[in-house]
Amino acid sequence: MRIETPAGGFRRIDVLRLSSLGDVVLTLPVVQALGRAFPAARLVYWVKQEYADLVRFDPAVSHVRILERDARRLEDVVAMGAELEDSDLIVDLHGNLRTRVLTFRQRAPVLRARSDRLRRARWVHARWSRPAPGPTLERYAATLAPLGIPVPAAPRQCAGEEAEAWAERWMEAWKPDRPPLAICPWARHFTKRWPEERWLSLHERLVGAGEWLLYFSLEAERRELPSLAERVARDARAHWCTEPLPRMAALLGRCRGAVCCDSGLMHLAAARGIKVVALFGSTAPELGFAPAGTGHVVLCRHELCQPCTLHGRRACPKRHFRCMLEIQPEEVAGAAARIG
Ligand code: SF4
Repeated sequence: MRIETPAGGFRRIDVLRLSSLGDVVLTLPVVQALGRAFPAARLVYWVKQEYADLVRFDPAVSHVRILERDARRLEDVVAMGAELEDSDLIVDLHGNLRTRVLTFRQRAPVLRARSDRLRRARWVHARWSRPAPGPTLERYAATLAPLGIPVPAAPRQCAGEEAEAWAERWMEAWKPDRPPLAICPWARHFTKRWPEERWLSLHERLVGAGEWLLYFSLEAERRELPSLAERVARDARAHWCTEPLPRMAALLGRCRGAVCCDSGLMHLAAARGIKVVALFGSTAPELGFAPAGTGHVVLCRHELCQPCTLHGRRACPKRHFRCMLEIQPEEVAGAAARIG
């Protein structure tokens, strides 16, 4: 299928990706490609409130359409879909039930990202039978193939002027004698988290090697790591940032590299142009979520049971949790020394 640009260009383009952090970051190359190819178009990005600031400051984005939290009934979604009647082109990078209802019977052509869920699920349970699914970034980029426009190979995220100025002042007040190393120790699912005692051990090694450390998470996540939070609080060479996403992004861009679990912040760190050491537990980079770009280090044990899930679990079904416990602090410290 080929979509011809209308005479005079597209007046309005709507991009839909409602969640979550990592996925929204990975849509940025598509947004930026559309912005470059159709600079006169009004580009509207549809997303949930908690991720809106990830895209709000991108020069290609004219407006962020935030989904109402309580709009869950079918008639609410149908009503919101009426706003798409003015669109000339809809790019649905989510492809879930809600975006399908939003885009149902619209006048504008709909370019929808191919769903890889079944393919990825097959690869989790029968990886001997099929090739790995491939990067999510490429799947999103392929959505624009009917337009024949080039898509950047890796995302770049804009934090906005206020956040950049705040981060500048914050770093001046802290005064590290070299750019700090970012540490993102949390992930939503238990089997994607490296245990707290490992982070404590890594902290001692890195500080002993002269590193300055900047931890990132939500405040609620920091409370889940009390020993680590206490260790960071009494270390002048370390800080823990629980600021809103634009400020986190601005600080990440001032770090020399990052050590992260397989999480949304891992993708944000890579999109801020720093190299990442990524720790993969119950998933695997072959499922499509390795950090985008070059120069990153992925630490994945590739245990026989790994991956055992598409997204993560509450506990290791084998009970040994080797995928994470076999990743040693000295290995992570060595990788952190090589990046940046
Ligand atoms: S050790 Fe294996 S079974 Fe357990 S969480 Fe990791 S990948 Fe899953």
